[in-house]
Amino acid sequence: MSQPVSIAVVGSGYVGLVAAACFAEMGHHVICVDNDESKVKMLREGGIPIHEDYLPELLNRHRLNKVEFTSDLKSATQRSQAIFIAVGTPQSKTGSADLSYVDAVASEIARSIDGYKVIVEKSTVPVYTNEWIRRVIERNGVPKDLFDVASNPEFLREGTAVVDFLHADRIVVGVESERAGKLMSDIYAPLTSGEYYKLPQAVPGSLNENNPPPFLLTSTKAAELIKHASNAFLAMKISFINVVSNICEAVGADVEQVAKGIGSDSRIGPKFLRAGIGYGGSCFPKDVAAFRYVAEQLGVDFDLLKEVESINEEQKKRFFQKVRAALWTFRGKKLGVLGLAFKGGTDDIRESPALDIVEQLLKEGAHIAAFDPAATPRAKEVIPPSAFMRYVDDPYEAAADADALLILSDWHEFSELDLDKLHYTLRYPIVIDGRNLYDPAEMIERGFNYLSVGRPAHQ
Ligand code: NAD
Repeated sequence: MSQPVSIAVVGSGYVGLVAAACFAEMGHHVICVDNDESKVKMLREGGIPIHEDYLPELLNRHRLNKVEFTSDLKSATQRSQAIFIAVGTPQSKTGSADLSYVDAVASEIARSIDGYKVIVEKSTVPVYTNEWIRRVIERNGVPKDLFDVASNPEFLREGTAVVDFLHADRIVVGVESERAGKLMSDIYAPLTSGEYYKLPQAVPGSLNENNPPPFLLTSTKAAELIKHASNAFLAMKISFINVVSNICEAVGADVEQVAKGIGSDSRIGPKFLRAGIGYGGSCFPKDVAAFRYVAEQLGVDFDLLKEVESINEEQKKRFFQKVRAALWTFRGKKLGVLGLAFKGGTDDIRESPALDIVEQLLKEGAHIAAFDPAATPRAKEVIPPSAFMRYVDDPYEAAADADALLILSDWHEFSELDLDKLHYTLRYPIVIDGRNLYDPAEMIERGFNYLSVGRPAHQ
């Protein structure tokens, strides 16, 4: 294997923990740093704070020799050649990214530097953040030749994060010096050389030794822009197909057929053309807002992104109206809900459209029985269990005696329900599917009143 690099990853969340586990899997020595002592303790004791496939296997494989957990950033900095900043960059009140966590970490790193280090932005940050990190470090008296700042945006998706990291479509690295570029290319060499994919224990995915991911070396500014522009573009694709789905509903066409037709054009591609209840999560909403803010600050008209956002809000409202149109009133009605996470495969509920819809239903007096395979503990923190809100342990319990079943997250298991069982479990066989997981014709044949998004309504 290539030469191991000693790495510190600051922030043990969805990105930091996955990156750390994957760097260890690639042969590097990794120190995970988090200022949440309870998280560090949990990780040290073998616990894993997030739900991600392969993450337990990787951490168990490497925790004794290649991964350690600490809250001591100073010592981690001094023992590492590269320090990846993977802390949160949430949306601030103005819409811009709140960079105070990044600032705090950069200052602490600056006070700890005792030799040449590459400080890497892994968090999603606006263009020019690298300049600010550089200034913060210099202000703390660190000479220019003792550090470089690099940008290495992360494109993993929650739910498939480990596979996405190790089988990335591309690795983007922005640097301003050859020295930093060399260290970053050493770090990713096990992937870009294809060596990793030859290992018997390699996590399976789409890449192999003959087809490794490209390493795109850019300026730091370009790398920062690539991340924001990518997320804004993907959000735009979702909003686009959602509007098309509304047109489909108006004329009685099937948006799945239309999306297939659009997506078969290789210039467009089939992904992110699934109509639904709108995008959510910890990235798209805040990154679209932050990119719009960047454009505004630079005097560049990017009202297109405003439209992307308002279409997304409208889509949630439209779905809610659809539920209302099917059920008339909500007070006292029992509704089964499948899915609370912002999408299937994750326990993340940040900006989840599913939770927005549940909150709205509760406001209007509905009684909810909700099931999510992973997000229930987090959802309970936002909507505590009550006489109106019950959290249940399987989809049929959610459906039991309900006036209707709502599908709000695209967990794979929700697409494989036993339809006969579902039919006799529900009080009325009404299924309102915000994720288009079933074939409308089949649902009608099975005796359901099935409503979905952008497909001819079958009553
Ligand atoms: P997260 O909230 O899951 O994790 C952030 C972690 O940083 C937390 O564990 C927190 O305790 C820790 N932290 C905060 N301040 C710290 C400090 N001063 N010192 C040490 N640790 C500190 O966040 P996340 O979802 O992993 O996202 C991190 C960044 O990556 C964000 O910028 C996000 O936009 C970006 N990103 C996220 C995803 C995703 O799918 N979640 C994908 C790509 C990029």
